[in-house]
Formats: sequence, structure tokens, C-alpha cells
Amino acid sequence: MRALQLVADRQLELVETPGPAAPAEGEVQVRVHAVGLNHLDVWGFRGMAFAKRKLPLVVGAEAAGEIAALGAGVTQFKPGQKVVMYGAMTCGRCAACHEGRDNLCENVGGIMGFHLDGFARDLINMPARLVVPVPDTVSLRDAACAPIAFGTTEHMLFDNAKLKPGETILVHAGGSGIGTAAIVMAKALGCTVITTVGDDAKAEKAKALGADHVINYKTDRFEGVTRKLTAKKGVDVVFEHVGGEGFNGSLLCLKRGGRLVTCGSTAGPTVTINLMQLFQQQYKIFGSFGCSLRNIRDSLSKMAAGQLPVIDTEVPLAEFERGLERLESRKVFGKVIVNF
Ligand SMILES: [Zn+2]
Repeated sequence: MRALQLVADRQLELVETPGPAAPAEGEVQVRVHAVGLNHLDVWGFRGMAFAKRKLPLVVGAEAAGEIAALGAGVTQFKPGQKVVMYGAMTCGRCAACHEGRDNLCENVGGIMGFHLDGFARDLINMPARLVVPVPDTVSLRDAACAPIAFGTTEHMLFDNAKLKPGETILVHAGGSGIGTAAIVMAKALGCTVITTVGDDAKAEKAKALGADHVINYKTDRFEGVTRKLTAKKGVDVVFEHVGGEGFNGSLLCLKRGGRLVTCGSTAGPTVTINLMQLFQQQYKIFGSFGCSLRNIRDSLSKMAAGQLPVIDTEVPLAEFERGLERLESRKVFGKVIVNF
């Protein structure tokens, strides 16, 4: 079978390897059809000093496919059934796993495609408990966006920020994979959506997607425009994943008691926060990473109900690197998908 391996920093190789053995008890074998790309893949490709991993490593952290074979004792799946896979090797035994807080597993073995071999290969054996069925009406291309892009967004908006119908939300980087997902989900809930983008072409696309107000952060200060749009009251929720210098601007966009939820720091990981502002304004800041299996199931249900991911580009497996370049270029609007 084919497997796409990272053999050194910034060096990928498509290799032929023997396929996996028959799935063991409690496992399923999945034929992978689509991999979604995320910034995590860009970090992994570039190499990160602190990441504990051994090369070569099969890349791909988010994927959809169909059941190819069943191990003993697995009765909840059928051969040919469409599925997606949870991308972190959780233990399934700790209190967090038992309570369905999978992304807080106390014994997590690593993230697939980053610390452990990932999904960019024809066949993979997975514990059946980490495999989620895809509704018939959802394509595998769209489903491939559920485990990270949609799941992360679902966890941020609903488990952490507890976004409610009718609230106003500022979504940063509305053209990104999770930014587009946040716009789609918040609009479906009946929220007012303000979003930031880096060029006018993306502004048009964000409006077409349903955003009520779009701010080009390169030509306007988003915090000033947001305060004006909300009659100086501020927004209920800020959806952050940029960090850097804009983080304090994001806090200034919140109304008193507002919630900021963040899952990324693409513009820089370190910020200085005014603590007086934090407690006097009673802001709530949530760090969010990954999602639960339930978030993935809920994401797929939303897709079946018409809340679809925005797909920017599709590339074949051999052009995985071109997909990463597209993601790195910041020209992207929506998700980059690698097809098998
Ligand atoms: Zn666990």
C-alpha cells in the first residue's frame, strides 16, 4: 500500500509499504479516502523542536474512509461503511475518557500524523472505539473535515464559550478552516457574526457564507470597527486562534462578562494581558484543544443537516506538499483536502 512519510523536516516521501495485518480484536481496518489539512500539519512538516516524535512518520491528522475489515468482537460497523477517525490515541480507561472528555485523556499516546503515524496511507487499523460512522448523505470529502476543523470549532463554541442563539460573535480569520466552520455554525444558530479577513476577495466570500459584517484587518483596526458595529457594547464571544499582537485587541472587543475562546497562536504564542482589565471586565478566557468523540458525531450531524465545510482546494495524495503550501500561503478560504 501507499504511505506518505515525513522523512526529515520539510521532506516528504511517498513509499510502498506492506499493508497492515488483519485487524485485531476490537479493531477495524479502514481504507482512507480523504485527509483534511490543518495548521498542525504545517507545524509538523516544518519541524518543531519540542515535538517528541521519531521519523519517518506517516503524515495526516484528520481523515475519512470506509471500513475494509472488522476485527473479532466488532459488531457496530459493516464493511464498506463510511467513517471518520479520532486523531489522538486516547487510553479509553481513565476518568476523562469514561466521561467523554476524550481530549483530556490522562494517558494520551500522542496525536496521529504529528507524534504518531497518521492517516496518509491506504489502509490503517484503528481501535473501533475511536471510529465514528458518517451519515449516508455526507460525502467523505466533507466528512474528512469533522475530526479536527468542525470538531475543534464545535468544542470551542459550544462546550467552552457556550454560544447561545441571538448572541454576537467575532470570528477571527474567517477564511481559515475553523474560521469558515465557526461562521457556518454560528449563523445556523441565529447569531450575528462579525469576522476578520486579510483581503477583499476573502471579504466577499465571507459575506457569501453568511457573515453579517466583514473587517479587512489589513486596512482597518478590527477592535475599533467591532466596537462601532456593536454600539460600543462589544461582542458576547470572540473566537480566537491567531494570538500575537491582536490578542489584546480581541479582549477589547468583548462586552463585560464576555467570553474569549482560543485554540491557536499562528501570529505568536506570547502576549501581555492587563489583569485589571481582565477582572474588572469579568472576561472569561478558554483555552481549547481538540475535541471529544461526541463533538465529531455532532459535527457530522450538522453536516447532514446542511452545515457543510467550505472546501478551498482538493489535491491528490502525491501533491500533499502543494496542499500544505496553499495552507501556508494564507490565500486559502476554507479547507484543503487530500484525495486518495
Ligand atoms: Zn484516557
